[in-house]
Amino acid sequence: MAFVTLLPDQNFIVGKIIGVGRNYTEHVKEMGAEKNQPPVLFLKPPTAILHIGNPIRLPVYSKDVHYEVELALLIGKGGKEIRQKDWKKCLAGAGLALDLTLRDLQNLAKEKGNPWSVSKGFDGSCPISEFTPLENISNLNNLQIELAVNNVTRQKANTTEMIYQVDELIAYISKYFTLEPGDIILTGTPAGVGKIITGDTLRARISELGEMEFKVA
Ligand code: MG
Repeated sequence: MAFVTLLPDQNFIVGKIIGVGRNYTEHVKEMGAEKNQPPVLFLKPPTAILHIGNPIRLPVYSKDVHYEVELALLIGKGGKEIRQKDWKKCLAGAGLALDLTLRDLQNLAKEKGNPWSVSKGFDGSCPISEFTPLENISNLNNLQIELAVNNVTRQKANTTEMIYQVDELIAYISKYFTLEPGDIILTGTPAGVGKIITGDTLRARISELGEMEFKVA
Protein backbone atom coordinates (compact mmCIF):
# COMPACT_ATOMS: atom_id res chain seq x y z
CA MET A 1 0.00 0.00 0.00
CA ALA A 2 1.22 3.51 -0.73
CA PHE A 3 1.06 6.24 1.89
CA VAL A 4 1.56 9.99 1.79
CA THR A 5 2.16 12.23 4.79
CA LEU A 6 0.27 15.36 5.74
CA LEU A 7 2.68 17.36 7.87
CA PRO A 8 3.52 17.06 10.64
CA ASP A 9 2.61 13.39 11.09
CA GLN A 10 -0.71 12.27 9.60
CA ASN A 11 -0.52 9.44 7.04
CA PHE A 12 -3.07 8.77 4.32
CA ILE A 13 -3.33 5.56 2.29
CA VAL A 14 -3.21 6.73 -1.32
CA GLY A 15 -6.37 6.00 -3.31
CA LYS A 16 -6.64 7.16 -6.88
CA ILE A 17 -4.36 9.76 -8.41
CA ILE A 18 -6.24 11.95 -10.85
CA GLY A 19 -4.12 13.81 -13.38
CA VAL A 20 -5.25 16.96 -15.17
CA GLY A 21 -3.78 17.51 -18.62
CA ARG A 22 -3.41 20.76 -20.59
CA ASN A 23 -4.02 23.18 -17.73
CA TYR A 24 -1.43 25.86 -18.57
CA THR A 25 -1.80 27.74 -21.88
CA GLU A 26 1.92 27.76 -22.71
CA HIS A 27 2.14 23.99 -22.19
CA VAL A 28 -0.95 23.44 -24.37
CA LYS A 29 0.91 25.36 -27.11
CA GLU A 30 4.15 23.40 -26.77
CA MET A 31 2.21 20.12 -27.06
CA GLY A 32 0.35 21.37 -30.15
CA ALA A 33 -2.94 20.56 -28.41
CA GLU A 34 -6.28 22.32 -28.74
CA LYS A 35 -7.21 25.18 -26.41
CA ASN A 36 -10.46 25.85 -24.57
CA GLN A 37 -11.41 22.22 -24.12
CA PRO A 38 -12.78 20.89 -20.83
CA PRO A 39 -9.98 19.60 -18.57
CA VAL A 40 -8.36 16.34 -19.74
CA LEU A 41 -8.41 13.76 -16.93
CA PHE A 42 -6.39 10.57 -16.54
CA LEU A 43 -5.59 8.21 -13.67
CA LYS A 44 -2.44 6.83 -12.11
CA PRO A 45 -2.62 3.85 -9.72
CA PRO A 46 -1.25 4.16 -6.15
CA THR A 47 1.78 2.08 -7.26
CA ALA A 48 2.90 5.21 -9.16
CA ILE A 49 3.88 6.89 -5.87
CA LEU A 50 7.65 7.37 -5.39
CA HIS A 51 8.87 8.91 -2.14
CA ILE A 52 11.79 11.26 -1.66
CA GLY A 53 14.99 9.28 -1.08
CA ASN A 54 14.23 6.77 -3.84
CA PRO A 55 15.73 7.14 -7.32
CA ILE A 56 13.63 7.53 -10.46
CA ARG A 57 14.07 4.38 -12.55
CA LEU A 58 13.67 4.78 -16.29
CA PRO A 59 11.50 1.96 -17.70
CA VAL A 60 13.29 -0.17 -20.32
CA TYR A 61 10.26 0.04 -22.64
CA SER A 62 10.51 3.81 -23.19
CA LYS A 63 13.19 5.96 -24.80
CA ASP A 64 11.60 9.33 -23.95
CA VAL A 65 10.69 9.84 -20.28
CA HIS A 66 9.59 13.43 -19.56
CA TYR A 67 9.42 15.41 -16.32
CA GLU A 68 6.33 17.54 -15.54
CA VAL A 69 6.31 19.46 -12.26
CA GLU A 70 2.85 19.93 -10.76
CA LEU A 71 0.98 21.23 -7.74
CA ALA A 72 -0.56 18.17 -6.02
CA LEU A 73 -3.72 18.32 -3.91
CA LEU A 74 -4.42 15.81 -1.14
CA ILE A 75 -8.07 15.00 -0.55
CA GLY A 76 -9.10 14.96 3.12
CA LYS A 77 -12.85 14.69 3.56
CA GLY A 78 -13.67 14.28 -0.13
CA GLY A 79 -17.18 14.06 -1.56
CA LYS A 80 -19.20 13.82 -4.75
CA GLU A 81 -20.51 16.66 -6.93
CA ILE A 82 -18.69 19.16 -4.74
CA ARG A 83 -19.79 22.73 -5.42
CA GLN A 84 -17.08 25.16 -6.47
CA LYS A 85 -17.59 27.29 -3.37
CA ASP A 86 -17.15 24.21 -1.11
CA TRP A 87 -13.73 23.26 -2.52
CA LYS A 88 -11.88 23.88 0.75
CA LYS A 89 -13.98 21.46 2.78
CA CYS A 90 -12.79 18.41 0.84
CA LEU A 91 -9.04 19.19 0.79
CA ALA A 92 -6.42 18.31 3.41
CA GLY A 93 -3.34 19.92 1.92
CA ALA A 94 -1.04 20.51 -1.02
CA GLY A 95 2.38 19.31 -2.10
CA LEU A 96 4.76 18.84 -5.01
CA ALA A 97 4.61 16.06 -7.58
CA LEU A 98 6.23 15.03 -10.81
CA ASP A 99 3.87 13.62 -13.41
CA LEU A 100 6.48 11.48 -15.18
CA THR A 101 5.31 10.67 -18.69
CA LEU A 102 6.54 8.20 -21.30
CA ARG A 103 6.18 10.66 -24.17
CA ASP A 104 6.93 8.14 -26.90
CA LEU A 105 4.27 5.72 -25.67
CA GLN A 106 1.83 8.57 -25.02
CA ASN A 107 2.26 9.88 -28.58
CA LEU A 108 1.68 6.39 -29.95
CA ALA A 109 -1.46 6.06 -27.80
CA LYS A 110 -2.74 9.45 -29.03
CA GLU A 111 -2.17 8.38 -32.67
CA LYS A 112 -4.03 5.13 -32.19
CA GLY A 113 -6.76 6.55 -29.95
CA ASN A 114 -5.64 4.29 -27.09
CA PRO A 115 -5.67 5.17 -23.36
CA TRP A 116 -2.69 6.77 -21.62
CA SER A 117 -2.62 4.26 -18.76
CA VAL A 118 0.88 2.90 -19.39
CA SER A 119 2.50 6.19 -20.40
CA LYS A 120 1.15 8.01 -17.33
CA GLY A 121 0.63 5.30 -14.72
CA PHE A 122 3.71 3.07 -14.78
CA ASP A 123 5.41 2.16 -11.48
CA GLY A 124 7.18 5.15 -9.92
CA SER A 125 5.58 7.66 -12.30
CA CYS A 126 4.53 9.96 -9.44
CA PRO A 127 7.48 11.21 -7.35
CA ILE A 128 5.86 13.11 -4.50
CA SER A 129 6.63 15.30 -1.47
CA GLU A 130 5.03 15.50 1.93
CA PHE A 131 1.88 17.63 2.06
CA THR A 132 1.44 21.00 3.77
CA PRO A 133 -1.91 21.48 5.57
CA LEU A 134 -4.29 23.78 3.73
CA GLU A 135 -4.50 26.21 6.66
CA ASN A 136 -0.76 26.94 6.28
CA ILE A 137 -1.08 27.99 2.63
CA SER A 138 -2.14 31.55 1.80
CA ASN A 139 -3.51 31.01 -1.73
CA LEU A 140 -3.21 27.83 -3.81
CA ASN A 141 -3.97 29.82 -6.93
CA ASN A 142 -0.94 32.07 -6.49
CA LEU A 143 2.15 29.94 -5.90
CA GLN A 144 5.47 30.04 -7.75
CA ILE A 145 6.23 26.65 -9.30
CA GLU A 146 9.64 25.66 -10.66
CA LEU A 147 11.68 22.71 -11.79
CA ALA A 148 15.43 22.63 -12.31
CA VAL A 149 17.28 19.78 -14.01
CA ASN A 150 20.97 19.62 -13.04
CA ASN A 151 20.61 23.15 -11.59
CA VAL A 152 19.23 24.62 -14.84
CA THR A 153 15.69 25.98 -14.54
CA ARG A 154 13.43 24.25 -17.09
CA GLN A 155 9.95 25.07 -15.85
CA LYS A 156 8.94 28.28 -14.10
CA ALA A 157 5.41 29.59 -13.70
CA ASN A 158 2.78 30.63 -11.21
CA THR A 159 -0.40 28.72 -10.41
CA THR A 160 -2.32 31.92 -11.32
CA GLU A 161 -1.65 30.75 -14.90
CA MET A 162 -3.71 27.57 -14.51
CA ILE A 163 -6.60 27.57 -17.00
CA TYR A 164 -8.82 25.77 -14.49
CA GLN A 165 -8.22 26.89 -10.91
CA VAL A 166 -8.38 24.57 -7.90
CA ASP A 167 -12.08 25.17 -7.10
CA GLU A 168 -13.10 24.53 -10.71
CA LEU A 169 -11.01 21.36 -10.91
CA ILE A 170 -12.54 19.92 -7.75
CA ALA A 171 -16.08 20.65 -8.94
CA TYR A 172 -15.36 19.19 -12.39
CA ILE A 173 -13.52 16.06 -11.22
CA SER A 174 -16.04 15.22 -8.48
CA LYS A 175 -18.85 15.10 -11.07
CA TYR A 176 -17.25 11.93 -12.44
CA PHE A 177 -15.19 10.50 -9.57
CA THR A 178 -16.21 10.49 -5.91
CA LEU A 179 -13.24 11.99 -4.08
CA GLU A 180 -12.12 9.97 -1.07
CA PRO A 181 -9.56 10.59 1.70
CA GLY A 182 -6.07 9.88 0.34
CA ASP A 183 -6.92 10.63 -3.28
CA ILE A 184 -4.51 12.99 -5.01
CA ILE A 185 -5.12 15.48 -7.82
CA LEU A 186 -2.24 16.55 -10.08
CA THR A 187 -3.22 19.96 -11.38
CA GLY A 188 -1.24 20.04 -14.63
CA THR A 189 2.20 21.19 -15.71
CA PRO A 190 3.49 24.52 -17.03
CA ALA A 191 5.55 24.83 -20.23
CA GLY A 192 9.12 23.59 -20.45
CA VAL A 193 8.68 19.82 -20.21
CA GLY A 194 11.57 17.70 -21.41
CA LYS A 195 13.42 14.43 -21.38
CA ILE A 196 15.33 13.01 -18.40
CA ILE A 197 18.31 10.68 -18.61
CA THR A 198 20.34 8.57 -16.22
CA GLY A 199 22.33 10.71 -13.78
CA ASP A 200 20.02 13.75 -13.92
CA THR A 201 19.06 15.52 -10.69
CA LEU A 202 15.59 17.07 -10.59
CA ARG A 203 14.77 19.75 -8.05
CA ALA A 204 11.17 20.95 -7.79
CA ARG A 205 10.10 23.95 -5.76
CA ILE A 206 6.71 25.48 -4.98
CA SER A 207 6.54 28.60 -2.83
CA GLU A 208 5.12 27.92 0.66
CA LEU A 209 5.30 24.15 0.04
CA GLY A 210 9.07 23.71 -0.07
CA GLU A 211 11.39 21.69 -2.29
CA MET A 212 12.02 18.12 -3.30
CA GLU A 213 14.91 16.46 -5.12
CA PHE A 214 15.07 13.22 -7.10
CA LYS A 215 17.97 11.56 -8.90
CA VAL A 216 17.52 9.50 -12.04
CA ALA A 217 19.11 6.05 -11.57
MG1 MG B 1 0.95 16.40 -16.26
